[in-house]
Amino acid sequence: MTKYDYLIVGSGLFGATFAFFAHKAGKRCLVIDKRPQLGGNVYCRPTPFPLGEGRGEAIINVHQYGAHIFHTNNKEVWDFVNSLVEFNRYTNCPVANYKGELYNLPFNMNTFCQMWKDVHTPEEALAKIAIQVHEAVEQINARHAEEGFPLLTPAPLGEGWEGALNLEEQALCLVGKDIFEKLIKEYTEKQWGRSCKDLPAFIIKRLPVRFVFDNNYFNNRYQGIPIGGYNVLINKLLEGVDTRTNCDFFKEYKDHWRDIANQLVYTGPLDEYFGYSLGRLDWRTVTFKTRIEDTPNYQGNAVINYTSHNEPYTRVIEHKHFEMFGQAVYDCPKTVVSEEYSTEYKPSMEQYYPVNDDKNNALAEQYRELAEREENVLFGGRLAEYKYYDMAPIIEKVMGLF
Ligand code: FAD
Ligand code: UDP
Repeated sequence: MTKYDYLIVGSGLFGATFAFFAHKAGKRCLVIDKRPQLGGNVYCRPTPFPLGEGRGEAIINVHQYGAHIFHTNNKEVWDFVNSLVEFNRYTNCPVANYKGELYNLPFNMNTFCQMWKDVHTPEEALAKIAIQVHEAVEQINARHAEEGFPLLTPAPLGEGWEGALNLEEQALCLVGKDIFEKLIKEYTEKQWGRSCKDLPAFIIKRLPVRFVFDNNYFNNRYQGIPIGGYNVLINKLLEGVDTRTNCDFFKEYKDHWRDIANQLVYTGPLDEYFGYSLGRLDWRTVTFKTRIEDTPNYQGNAVINYTSHNEPYTRVIEHKHFEMFGQAVYDCPKTVVSEEYSTEYKPSMEQYYPVNDDKNNALAEQYRELAEREENVLFGGRLAEYKYYDMAPIIEKVMGLF
């Protein structure tokens, strides 16, 4: 049997990028994945629709494992991915639907003018928010004083408030009651399956608040979707590399991988590698209900967040809007939409977001200590590091290894 330099478990962005650079350096790699296809969570299912009258077909790439938008400030990463596949000009501008009322996200002047009919300028929006924030801080501080907790103090811009005990307090002190109640409270409760009072304050610091008319969700310099979809990127990364799908490391290689490769790159779940010997790490997951709609344009945007409990799902994704713009939307007569449900994780489900609470962080640390003792094994990526990573940081990390 061929001796490889690397056996790479997992063909997601970590494994595929690793294989790309190793291959370029003249190393022999075998990439395996237990799924029926390559690409990990960025894999998209191509769904063809005939255009009629011999005009061929249009392909909608369905983001099967959740909507993926590439965004980064890192020019080196951006240049690298663009050297493999050109990216389109998709800019993420989600819209929130609260009981039928529509608001632009992230929180910006468009949102404020939609929320309050008497607000037209940044000064008016700031004043409105300042009044609500002041009220919230007073109420919370009164409660903290009574219950013996430290009083709130403002942290540097964008860092929220020091002393906020939970997400609800942090959000109320950042944007006030109206925005919290219509755009944060119920969405967050659906997403996390817990009250905002029982969630850590830091989660909400991620939401940008802007006093300009700018619906671009990300503050990054570069963003987009690969033209032709993420599968093109994965195929480019894996060009010339041996691959096997439907191949589970634990069933086929765990005990004798050293017979076929000198080193192992493992991107699967950290606890599974050690047979869950110290216990199982928790995850948060998402499930999708995907359907075809017989209309060219179902919701007019790729992402609509449903921010009230009226709907059980958190978001509806209309996949064509990631890659079709202008007339192309109407040239394709149908569309694919996915409702996204935040679901409690059970062992047979997809592992999406690590639960970085104290208990799980401590357990992951114990597993990391075991991992350090494994000879010639590199643990990398979101599952093996038990860490949430966006796509660009994963690529940056692998580039740093070479
Ligand atoms: P993965 O893509 O999960 O790849 C790991 C692979 O290992 C999988 O294919 C799996 O099948 C395989 N594997 C596991 N165990 C075994 C085994 N025993 N044998 C063989 N193969 C195995 N990032 C962004 O930048 N923008 C976004 O908009 C964005 N949206 C996201 C939405 C969701 C719902 C989620 C969960 C993540 C999102 N991300 C986003 C993050 C992005 O998905 C990750 O950065 C990226 O997938 C990490 O790549 P990876 O290779 O570490 O993991
Ligand atoms: N959030 C919210 N309303 C929204 C979108 C997000 O309250 O319409 C909150 C929610 O608590 C979420 C956090 O902001 O957990 C971060 O949201 P983002 O979409 O950036 O992150 P992700 O869903 O990818 O974790």
